[in-house]
Amino acid sequence: MRKNLILGLAVFLGVLMAAAVFYYNTFIDPTSSKSAELKSRQAHTFPSQQTLYQMGLYLDLPNRTLYGNNAMHLVNNSGQAMDELWLTAYPNAFTYEDDSPASPSAYYDGFNPGGMEFDYFKINGRTVAYETQGIAVRIPLQECIEPGQPFNLEVKYRTRIPRLAYRFGSKDGVFMLSYAYPMLNVLDASGWHKSYNSKYGDPFCLASANYLVRLNLPDGYNFVSPGVVTDALAEDNGRQSFLIKAENIRDFSLVVMYDYKEIGQQVEATNVKCYFPAGVAGPGNGILQQSYEMLSYYSDIFGSTYPFSDLKIVFVPMKGVNTSEHSGLIFLSDTMLDSFRQQEYSYFSLAHEISHQWWYGLVGNDQVKEPWLDEGLANWSSYKFLAATRGMKTPASGNSFDRMNLERELKDIKSAQDYSRLAYSGGEDFWFDLEKKVGGRKLDKILQRYVSDFSGSIASAEDVRTIIDQETGRDMSKFYQPWFQQ
Ligand SMILES: [Zn+2]
Repeated sequence: MRKNLILGLAVFLGVLMAAAVFYYNTFIDPTSSKSAELKSRQAHTFPSQQTLYQMGLYLDLPNRTLYGNNAMHLVNNSGQAMDELWLTAYPNAFTYEDDSPASPSAYYDGFNPGGMEFDYFKINGRTVAYETQGIAVRIPLQECIEPGQPFNLEVKYRTRIPRLAYRFGSKDGVFMLSYAYPMLNVLDASGWHKSYNSKYGDPFCLASANYLVRLNLPDGYNFVSPGVVTDALAEDNGRQSFLIKAENIRDFSLVVMYDYKEIGQQVEATNVKCYFPAGVAGPGNGILQQSYEMLSYYSDIFGSTYPFSDLKIVFVPMKGVNTSEHSGLIFLSDTMLDSFRQQEYSYFSLAHEISHQWWYGLVGNDQVKEPWLDEGLANWSSYKFLAATRGMKTPASGNSFDRMNLERELKDIKSAQDYSRLAYSGGEDFWFDLEKKVGGRKLDKILQRYVSDFSGSIASAEDVRTIIDQETGRDMSKFYQPWFQQ
């Protein structure tokens, strides 16, 4: 009897100790918590993650103009006095033919300018001066905004939408409104992350924020945007307005369209929805199933579930560029519809775009200064998905990599091929090279740490190197040497 009691006690203690070790490894792993330095740095990145864009958008169809206003209650959380504010006005990339990032073939009616004009900027109710240079907008401040000081920023503007089959433009009654409102740039200890015109890539560094948008459209028109519609109101003037709420998104881009069809599929917590013109054959339900498979694969390997209740994929008229990623939303060119329907499509682009929900959506980066960070990981992720689920070969099956200097920003890039070599091939090769060096399981841990440390925030190449060093516990400077040569 006594022997049984001792045995029982020993088993009980054994189970307790195993549970304690399991609990420690799962929940109190010291490497999974952010350092105090990182927490402080993220808390001092302006604008804060709690920033709310309150926007009114009114689409004037005959004049292809979007009338807008933003009102933002902000706090200078940057830890430094602000003597200027910087914003990005992406539509100004389309003002001059020579500057435009769209290919000439996308101007189906010849060159047609787009742009953004401002009625005013107001700080704490007072009109302030501003300067624009291409897509960059600077507001010099007469009086500094001190650290910790709250302030209100209001802007009223008009966005001219060009006749253009691109992620910003309009064709056949479809309005592609990517980054069509003034967006705050990021300020951190390294200074302002400014934007400038570039023919290649995404000239943005965007903080994650919340949005409350009132969208006013003519009757009969519909739209696809991030977030949920919380209210819809029919007006007696042939127009309707919608109230949309979206949280923790990088950008509030949308498509306004007439006569579209929707297909959707809810699997577990995520609803994948796909939109295409009613007059043409749709992509088929395969795209929904594939997208769901990608979302769940990435949720598993990155250790962080897809953050929204739905993912919206919309086919739009785009030429020269086939895809555009936004928070909770993906634009695909309508020229891809046939290949999806016939299931001939390799799904590489779809897997790439969906992984941007992690590499851009969740983990932000300065896409002007370090475009390889999100694009390289998106390509690497796409290869990993196709290798794991379709047996596809990856570039890692080769023996050597063309190790290039990744320390180049958009202004250093001279051609589309150059951009592709840097951001896509260079970026993906960095991760495949690292995988060869440290192994797949270690790389998974590195990426999981990257997501958990930088979700909702902005990461840099230096942060990537820090995580690799800490997770491998090795001196990796020799490995970095060919990839980063400042
Ligand atoms: Zn991409």
